[in-house]
Amino acid sequence: MHSRFHWNGCWHKVMNSLSSEKAKLIKNEAVKIGFDACGFAEAAEVSEEAKKRFQNWLEAGYCAEMEYMRRYEDIRYNPCLLVEKARSIIVVALNYFPAEKQPASHPQFAYYAYGEDYHTVMKKKLAELFSFLLRIAPDTQGRYFTDTAPIMEKYWAQQAGIGFIGRNTQLIIPHKGSYFFLGVIVSTLALPPDIPQQNRCGNCRKCIDACPTGALSISTGLNANKCLSYQTIENRSELPQSIISNIGNRVYGCDTCQQVCPYNRFAVPSSVPEFRPHPEFLQLDYERMQTLSSEEYRMLFKNSAVKRAKYEGLKRNIAVLTTKNKKHF
Ligand code: SF4
Ligand code: SF4
Repeated sequence: MHSRFHWNGCWHKVMNSLSSEKAKLIKNEAVKIGFDACGFAEAAEVSEEAKKRFQNWLEAGYCAEMEYMRRYEDIRYNPCLLVEKARSIIVVALNYFPAEKQPASHPQFAYYAYGEDYHTVMKKKLAELFSFLLRIAPDTQGRYFTDTAPIMEKYWAQQAGIGFIGRNTQLIIPHKGSYFFLGVIVSTLALPPDIPQQNRCGNCRKCIDACPTGALSISTGLNANKCLSYQTIENRSELPQSIISNIGNRVYGCDTCQQVCPYNRFAVPSSVPEFRPHPEFLQLDYERMQTLSSEEYRMLFKNSAVKRAKYEGLKRNIAVLTTKNKKHF
């Protein structure tokens, strides 16, 4: 009996050291691929607290017309349903902070939309990392996602020790900021979980005070109905007057609650070539945007996340901005 326990102890030690070795290799490979952070969490259901918070958010109607947020609730709370016998959730982050920005006098796009569509770029890099997993552990089963499955990516990034969810509802990586795309691999490979991060907003409420529409609240998070990002990208109808009054010169998305966050003083430009803005994009001033044809729009934003707003949406936004800011040509 004694020897069996003894053997079990040894066996666990061997397994632990093997999985620690794999964890190191995976993290090194993630850096080689170009990711800025990589962490592991044990595959499990999300905490009751996170579940309740999300349910309350939905019940309050804060997801606005994003009905897809209400679907696949079971998977959202339990990503193990995506991969049978899932053991780990690997989370990676990729910096998109632009080196070169639009002139401040131009209609503003959110930074994440400056370059190539992040779905394409992240998918390629996640595929590389997953191939590496298969090389070091050929029996691994898994799936990878970037904003393409009902997974609480920011929650898992916090669990995987990458960063914490700030009051602006973004994932903040200490000493790096929040201009990051997240990717997730759910896999059957057991990996030693990292230590989850705690919220580090302290007494700060800069994002809440700076939000032009009052869309953020400490207790309830983001109300998408009030958010300029949601309204300028996802809303397919007319913009509400309360949004028009506070739109400023934002034509696609809004970065205000990230720009004011003290953690973003650490942001450094992304080195991902695909995220570099096209010179034509940087020349999109009011006049150019007002005269942009659907064909030109299609060409310019062919591989861009801006496609999400559709030509009509962008034209609606620019019409609002030109009237409001009296930019007629
Ligand atoms: S993206 Fe803009 S409108 Fe939305 S919460 Fe942040 S600051 Fe407010
Ligand atoms: S601005 Fe302040 S409160 Fe808001 S996310 Fe950043 S640190 Fe937290």
